[in-house]
Amino acid sequence: MIQITMPLGFLGTVYREIRQALVDMGEMFDLLQQPAEITDKPGADVLNVQGGTIAFDDISFHYDATRPILKGVSLTVPAGHTVALVGPSGSGKSTIGRLMFRFYDVTGGSIRIDGQDLRDVTQKSLHDAIGVVPQDTVLFNDTIRYNIAYGRGNATEDEIIAAAKGAKIHDFIMDLPEGYDTAVGERGLKLSGGEKQRVGIARTMLKNPPILLLDEATSALDTQTERDIQTSLKAIAQGRTVITIAHRLSTIVDADLIVVLEQGEVIEQGHHEDLLARRGRYAAMWAHQSAEEQRADEEDAGAA
Ligand code: ATP
Repeated sequence: MIQITMPLGFLGTVYREIRQALVDMGEMFDLLQQPAEITDKPGADVLNVQGGTIAFDDISFHYDATRPILKGVSLTVPAGHTVALVGPSGSGKSTIGRLMFRFYDVTGGSIRIDGQDLRDVTQKSLHDAIGVVPQDTVLFNDTIRYNIAYGRGNATEDEIIAAAKGAKIHDFIMDLPEGYDTAVGERGLKLSGGEKQRVGIARTMLKNPPILLLDEATSALDTQTERDIQTSLKAIAQGRTVITIAHRLSTIVDADLIVVLEQGEVIEQGHHEDLLARRGRYAAMWAHQSAEEQRADEEDAGAA
């Protein structure tokens, strides 16, 4: 009997680990496109996060040596602050996120968290310290409770509910036919993009990491959903160091610092108001997006 159950137990563990790896990879599909061959250096330390200050010091990076992607980016995110990265498509925003997660190593300069170079710490401790809220949260064909607790199998009911409340999805769940036992995913209740993202936020709240990497959805959501998501994101950002990869400027006006990237270089940085007053690239992007949003609103009003 023992001979049979032990291998089965082992297979169960392997199965769960593979599933975990798949969801982690799935979750990071957009932001962290592909894993690279990064290994821990011998005797690597465990990352010791004090406040979570992140310092990018003159970093450069290329995927392919013939094409530089980041060219000497320097940037400090003080502990507990929120920094938004903005810039045209292809300017290198997501690449900075991938480097922070050490999916690749920088080709020049360094990234440090509370003074520790990412290359000197174990990947496990780094990944434990960073919560990623991806554009698209992957849901399993299982209950909503399971989906929130995913990755923290030992979470208590109270912790799960607190995370759902923090992500402003608890009331929605309580209105479902079977509450937290409602099956979701492809074979269950299909959630909207905004609801899925809030499940992702609740999942990250449960993980409770000191550092957050938010990959904002590219597509415009309706105004109420957008507001709900922003409220959830504000709640989860409290007391954490946050890097937001932003596509819509209207969502990041309150960021402590906005960093404008263009072709792998920081071309402007400051607060929203300062950047508008400067009448540079950010101000032009803002004017462009505001005009587009107004046009979309007018079209909606016309259609109604
Ligand atoms: P977007 O707003 O469209 O998401 P981004 O600012 O996040 O863009 P990145 O995804 O960081 O831009 O890409 C920066 C550049 O690096 C782009 O030119 C892109 O084509 C290139 N790039 C991204 N991933 C890879 C990769 N795995 N291999 C080679 N080049 C890549």
